[in-house]
Amino acid sequence: MTDVTTPALATRCVHAGELADAHGSPHTPIYTTTFAFPSTQAVLDVVEGRATGSLYTRYGLNPSIQSLEAKLAALEGAEAALAFASGMAAEAAVFLALGRAGVVCIGDAYGGTLELIGEQLPALGIPTRLMLGDELDQLDAALAAGARLVFLETPSNPVLEVFDIAAIAARAHAQGALLVVDNTFASPVNQQPLALGADLVVHSATKYLGGHSDLTAGALMGSKALIEAVWPWRKNLGTTPAPETAALLARSLRTLVARVRTQNASAQRIAEAMAAHPRVARVRYPGLPAHPGHALAARQMQGFGGMLTLEIKGDGAAASQVADRLRLFALAPSLGGVESLVTQPCTTTHHGLPPAERTRRGITDSMLRLSVGLEEPEDLIADLNQALG
Ligand SMILES: *Cc1c(COP(=O)(O)O)cnc(C)c1O
Repeated sequence: MTDVTTPALATRCVHAGELADAHGSPHTPIYTTTFAFPSTQAVLDVVEGRATGSLYTRYGLNPSIQSLEAKLAALEGAEAALAFASGMAAEAAVFLALGRAGVVCIGDAYGGTLELIGEQLPALGIPTRLMLGDELDQLDAALAAGARLVFLETPSNPVLEVFDIAAIAARAHAQGALLVVDNTFASPVNQQPLALGADLVVHSATKYLGGHSDLTAGALMGSKALIEAVWPWRKNLGTTPAPETAALLARSLRTLVARVRTQNASAQRIAEAMAAHPRVARVRYPGLPAHPGHALAARQMQGFGGMLTLEIKGDGAAASQVADRLRLFALAPSLGGVESLVTQPCTTTHHGLPPAERTRRGITDSMLRLSVGLEEPEDLIADLNQALG
């Protein structure tokens, strides 16, 4: 039985944050750019913080955006949230607001994240460290040297390594640092990093939260104090989402639980079928008992997600040929939508890394990353079987 004061996630997805409208719309309407006041005194009351109210859209003081943010906060069990124009915009604002003393990135991460932490932040004089999962013994020393922000993705992209959020949060906190978790791959349906001890959660809402490959947005969730510290950076970098995008994202969030649970079940079936295929050397999926992170994932996640990575027997060209022959899986970057997608990481998301660095990260040319959509799983398995030949 669900307590009505803390409704279950599926209920929060539908109802949290919705603003009643004068015409009886069940959903928050799209409010556009600016808002009129009855007097200059009323303007000053909002500008000087004595009153809350809508003011100007880039500030985020817009009901379409604030309604979305209330829903986003509810999904991660957070006090507060900020919506952004993209996932990278959310990450950049966090690093600039809270990571200037130094950032440590643990494990593999999205290609753009690796570039931002590895190149742009150091160009601003911010010390950063990219640390792989087998180098975790160096975390305490990196924190003692002054880093104040630890960032990780779990399961990671594209090797689906699973990290222990509670254990890493405890180590960060012991030295006064914050833990930020990119929860894009898992989605709030499968993992709640804040409940496990993380301080902030970041999402590329372009992926599962948006869920239809028809919008670009980002999200950040955490305590009111941390969110307030990031807000001026979003405001003045100008990376607030458009209200039309905010409304489209809120529309998508209402079906998040139904979508992700179906994708979890389909990915599990496909992973099991591919693990038995003679042309597949290895399947990486946290839901398979053979996956090195399976036990940890079973403990810290409520579902294993819709992403899996295949290693095809043969070289990169053999894997390219399989990708080229798939018909239902579109060959496209991105993930988390209703349509299934395939990428070869060495030609797309991780193309920017030198080959030696890809090898160090376990990213082989024969890897194909699948994002499982909402098609009938038997049709997807048939497509993979015909492409594998
Ligand atoms: C796509 C992605 C990002 C970047 O998000 P954008 O919306 O493209 O800016 C960050 N992290 C992960 C895990 C992603 O998949």
